[in-house]
Amino acid sequence: MNFQDSVENLKGVGAKKREKIGLLGIRTVCDLVNYKPYKYQDRRKVVSSGSFVSGKAILAEAVIVSKKLRRISGGRAIIDCKAVDEAGFFNLRFFNMPYIIKNISINERYAVYGEVRIQNGNKTFINPDITKCGSSNDVRGILPVYRCVRGITNNDLRKWMKIVLEELDFSEGLFNQEYLDKNNLCGDEFAYKNLHFPSSERAYQAARYNLIYSEMFVYQIAMLVSKNSLQKENRESAIRDIDITPFIDSLSFELTDGQLNAIKDIERDLISNRAMNRLVQGDVGSGKTVVSEAAIYKVVKVGGQCAFLAPTEVLSKQHFIKLSDAFSKFNFKIALLNGRMKANERKNILAGLRDGTINLVIGTHALIQADVEFHNLKLVVTDEQHRFGVNQRKNLVDKSASVNVLVMSATPIPRTLAATVFGDMDFSIIRNMPAGRKKIITREVQEHNREIAYSALRKELEAGHQAYVVASAIDDNEFELESAEKLYEEMTDKFKGYKISLIHGRLSTEEKNRIMQDFIEKRIDILVSTVVIEVGIDVPNATIIVIENAERYGLAQLHQLRGRVGRSDMQSYCYLVRYSDSDNAVKRIDAMVRISDGFEISEEDFKLRGPGDIRGTMQHGSGSSIMMEMYEYEELAERSLADAKSIIKNNFKNVNRCRLEIMLRDLYDDYSYVI
Ligand code: ADP
Ligand code: MG
Repeated sequence: MNFQDSVENLKGVGAKKREKIGLLGIRTVCDLVNYKPYKYQDRRKVVSSGSFVSGKAILAEAVIVSKKLRRISGGRAIIDCKAVDEAGFFNLRFFNMPYIIKNISINERYAVYGEVRIQNGNKTFINPDITKCGSSNDVRGILPVYRCVRGITNNDLRKWMKIVLEELDFSEGLFNQEYLDKNNLCGDEFAYKNLHFPSSERAYQAARYNLIYSEMFVYQIAMLVSKNSLQKENRESAIRDIDITPFIDSLSFELTDGQLNAIKDIERDLISNRAMNRLVQGDVGSGKTVVSEAAIYKVVKVGGQCAFLAPTEVLSKQHFIKLSDAFSKFNFKIALLNGRMKANERKNILAGLRDGTINLVIGTHALIQADVEFHNLKLVVTDEQHRFGVNQRKNLVDKSASVNVLVMSATPIPRTLAATVFGDMDFSIIRNMPAGRKKIITREVQEHNREIAYSALRKELEAGHQAYVVASAIDDNEFELESAEKLYEEMTDKFKGYKISLIHGRLSTEEKNRIMQDFIEKRIDILVSTVVIEVGIDVPNATIIVIENAERYGLAQLHQLRGRVGRSDMQSYCYLVRYSDSDNAVKRIDAMVRISDGFEISEEDFKLRGPGDIRGTMQHGSGSSIMMEMYEYEELAERSLADAKSIIKNNFKNVNRCRLEIMLRDLYDDYSYVI
């Protein structure tokens, strides 16, 4: 079996499951083995109930002595079981899984795995995994936990991983043995086997090191190659220098120093003989849009065209409205290109872009990359970039060698890392917020106090404002949706007379767009959502966000969520509901309450999540992205960059070029947004 083989021929995967596995983005064996567990269950040691620690996931062995099913409001079901081990009794509670009651046998011994909660001396597992001791499912060791979709279970994925890891031909690795030895790398076979089924924490660390090093190495190669091609002098990218004072004067506010400096950097890039390739980094609300507007103004005024790319249709529409307003005095011809356009309309816009009558086009990446030709494209602005745009930058450079690229990102990165992460870009940082902006008041409430958050929410609604409520992130998509639905019901009960909607990842893009549009246009008061809230969505009238199970999110993600409010001069609030008493949960929530600056938060995140913690890794909820890895492995990022440079200099000695090319292609093609 080879990396490039399709998963279609995999044993044990029927046609139905094969379709589903596509939903996880898995098409080839390579995709499958790179589908990383986002956490592990440590089922090596049985913990006695006398030594349970609240908030910690543990494996217990106990005899179940009673079981009881009851129904609560809304037809929901709770199963309560009592279990006993040599140290005493404890409880198992299952929400909304009435069907499992028939599988629980009284007086049988079970392996119970999950998080225990201890309250007033009562020890309770909520929705634990249970398996009969000694049965074929009772596997011990360190087990992977994957993100699943309906119809594909963790057990399915574990089974297929086992088969594939046995049969895969690992002989064509990226590096040869000499290179592996010299760099202390364990090699792909050991790495993949121990990524999925670690034999020990040490083996896992070696595996992770190997995989991340390889991934970063390939990423750095891509960056270096793209940098080399971009740095060639290219007179065509240069534009005539003109004064942008008329635009600055048209603004209703004073620009901040950060904005002014970024604009200065951009102006310099635009008139130079080298295509601009600049990233503007600034926290949510720091005012990046106006910086891009200054760039657009300068380009359009000398006859160049601009494209403004947004990650979603909702955002592109929002930008269209804003930019049209910003340039209303200047007679620019601006067009919005979107998927639901009539063929006729689309044809007109494409013609306008081809003949140069349209100065600025706004749309999603997909649309603009398709079949669009420009008369004189000089600037591409990309907003809310969450993954690095190696790919679309390449596409655009292919389209026109003279394009200046401006990327705006709200994902703060520790300063020390920026240089390695943005290998091929120049960057400007907007550190300070516009004056007079009110700080978002962030408060922590514990589970038993969560009504405090909801009465604050009620007050905002009564003032005519809107609200977000974010449901807990749960391992299993199925459960995640269920918990969001439950929360939605609760809100409907609680806030009678208000309009409430639920948005989640399972909805079609159309449905999501419609709901977001309704929220923007105030037809919805409370938006209950899983973590899919659009990045960068700007609804200034939303002044409160309540985040359930806040401890389950990474700090960076919490910060992004919090940034959905505080987008006007009205006082905004963020309530973080904490359900766990674990040390780490308390510390992280505390950091959010204390710190409002995104850059500081990213540094704190880095500190709180040591790379050594097997359970703490990759808990960003969105799988892994190279950037998240880089957060954790700063040193490795630097090393991979140095190594990539010397490998290029040595004409790819010690590297399997064929594999490298495949990996590069993956990096270019597999371009998707991580929200
Ligand atoms: P982001 O950096 O998150 O994209 P935006 O560009 O959407 O932020 O700006 C947020 C809001 O702040 C907008 O309503 C914008 O008009 C306003 N704004 C931007 N710069 C300033 C400034 N210097 N002073 C006051 N308000 C500003
Ligand atoms: Mg923005």
